[in-house]
Amino acid sequence: MKDSNCIFCKIANGEIPSRTIEENDMFKVVLDVGPATKGHALILPKDHYTNLYDLPEDVAAEVYKTAKKIALKMKEKLGCDGVNIVQNNEEAAGQTVFHFHMHVIPRYKDDGQVIGWKPGQPTAEELDAIAEVLK
Ligand code: AMP
Ligand code: ZN
Repeated sequence: MKDSNCIFCKIANGEIPSRTIEENDMFKVVLDVGPATKGHALILPKDHYTNLYDLPEDVAAEVYKTAKKIALKMKEKLGCDGVNIVQNNEEAAGQTVFHFHMHVIPRYKDDGQVIGWKPGQPTAEELDAIAEVLK
C-alpha cells in the first residue's frame, strides 16, 4: 500500500529523486537531506506504514538486517567510529515524517552531535513499579 500524499512513499518508489545508497524489493535506503553527520541514511519501506506500531513483523525483521548491512558499509567506506540506529514513533518521540523510517547515523569522534537523553534518577521502588506495569 502506498499513500499518495506521503513524501517517503514517493521517494521510496522513485517518484521523487533521492540519493539512493541501497535498494531491494522491500526498501530504499537514501541519504537524509538534513543529516546529523556525514552519511546519515534513512531506511524507507516501499509500502506505507505510519510507524513501528503498524509495521508487519516480516518487514520489521528485514529492516534490522538492512540496518546492519548499511552500518557495516559505513564502517568500511566512511571509516566512521560508531553508528547510531534511531527510529522515532509519533510526534512526542520526535517523528516528523509519518512513514516508518529507520535512521542509520554514522558517528565520528568529536563530531559534536548529541543523540541521547538526560538520565533520570529513579528510586529502586520506582523502577520496581514500572517493571511491574510493563511485565
Ligand atoms: P523523523 O524526525 O524521525 O521523522 O525524521 C525525518 C527525517 O527525514 C529528518 O531527519 C529529515 O531531515 C529527513 N527528511 C525529510 N524530508 C526528506 C527528503 N525529502 N529526503 C530525505 N530526507 C528527508
Ligand atoms: Zn508513505
